[in-house]
Amino acid sequence: MDFELTEEQSLLQTAVRDFAEEVIRPRAAAIDQSGEFPRDLFRKAGELGLAGVSVPPEYGGAGMDVVSYSIVIEEISRVCANMGVILSVNNSLVCDPIEKWGNEQQKKAFLGPLARGEKLGCFALTEPDAGSDAANQKTRAVREGDVYRITGQKVFITCGQAADLCILFAMTDLAKKARGISAFIVDAETPGFDRSHHQIKLGVNASGTVEIFLTDVRVPAASRLGQEGDGFKIAMSTLDAWLRSSRLRACSRGAQLPPRTARRRPGAVMVWKLRSPSSTPPRWHSGSRRRRCRSTADMATRRSIRSSATFATPVSPRSTRARARSTG
Ligand SMILES: Cc1cc2nc3c(=O)[nH]c(=O)nc-3n(C[C@H](O)[C@H](O)[C@H](O)COP(=O)(O)OP(=O)(O)OC[C@H]3O[C@@H](n4cnc5c(N)ncnc54)[C@H](O)[C@@H]3O)c2cc1C
Repeated sequence: MDFELTEEQSLLQTAVRDFAEEVIRPRAAAIDQSGEFPRDLFRKAGELGLAGVSVPPEYGGAGMDVVSYSIVIEEISRVCANMGVILSVNNSLVCDPIEKWGNEQQKKAFLGPLARGEKLGCFALTEPDAGSDAANQKTRAVREGDVYRITGQKVFITCGQAADLCILFAMTDLAKKARGISAFIVDAETPGFDRSHHQIKLGVNASGTVEIFLTDVRVPAASRLGQEGDGFKIAMSTLDAWLRSSRLRACSRGAQLPPRTARRRPGAVMVWKLRSPSSTPPRWHSGSRRRRCRSTADMATRRSIRSSATFATPVSPRSTRARARSTG
């Protein structure tokens, strides 16, 4: 397997690094201290195609591959965790589900403005009683003719403070539990859609994390994403894809470590070795490369998730078993 970046990816890396250093770095510390949501920086990133990296060009995006997307988030996060999180939410948690689950009309209406940074999205799944147990949604969506009336509360919603639209999850059929959850694309200006002041955290304070209060929010039935009952599938597949790209980023971070550092962090050397096949393998380099690469990525992901305090994965029966295995 070839782990070298293509020429196009290397050029992208240089361009994004320059943008991050010149435009974002001078503001990075100040926005984290003040908690000011950097909407202007998001717009500038969008003008460069960084807000919808993988959105196909026919819908107004840059149409790049997942490695390019990982390069973008890694380079931005290198100078500013806030901007890294904001862009990863807009790309992975908002554009991705619309691209995968939206109908043609929804893709045409939303993907272009999101990818160009004209509109910002958020992803609202978590509730006070539905974190890891994401199926335990209390937010209700009741169909009344051509609209759904939505009532409930969401917490910890990244970008929620400034978002123009929201991928919102709500129960359309309580009896069906996880299979009774549906997803909606909700305009954040709809009456009854209210947000708290941004929630103060230990860090990454400019990412606009808020609570969202929904009081009889009337959403057109045409704004439902997928079919009624698809919501849990949409949420889990979106979070899975988001985690996979985080893993790739962690993997490439390991790949960039110089040998001396890598030796002090044995997990990281595996990926580095895969990139430098001509040099002598270290003594611990035995067994299946793929397995080690994966465990390196897992270790690095766990480390980066812990240190950046971003999302924990909601628990599905499969991920609970995986968690039990990975934590021993
Ligand atoms: C900074 C930040 C930003 C966020 N942004 C968003 C966002 O944009 N949109 C959104 O929808 N959500 C967001 N979240 C919410 C996040 O996804 C939830 O925090 C997460 O799902 C965990 O839920 P919880 O905090 O309620 O923890 P809990 O569910 O209470 O879990 C607490 C701990 O118990 C463990 N645990 C729980 N149940 C089990 C079980 N059955 N087996 C084993 N272990 C278990 C968990 O792994 C965790 O370590 C954000 C959270 C943070 C901190």
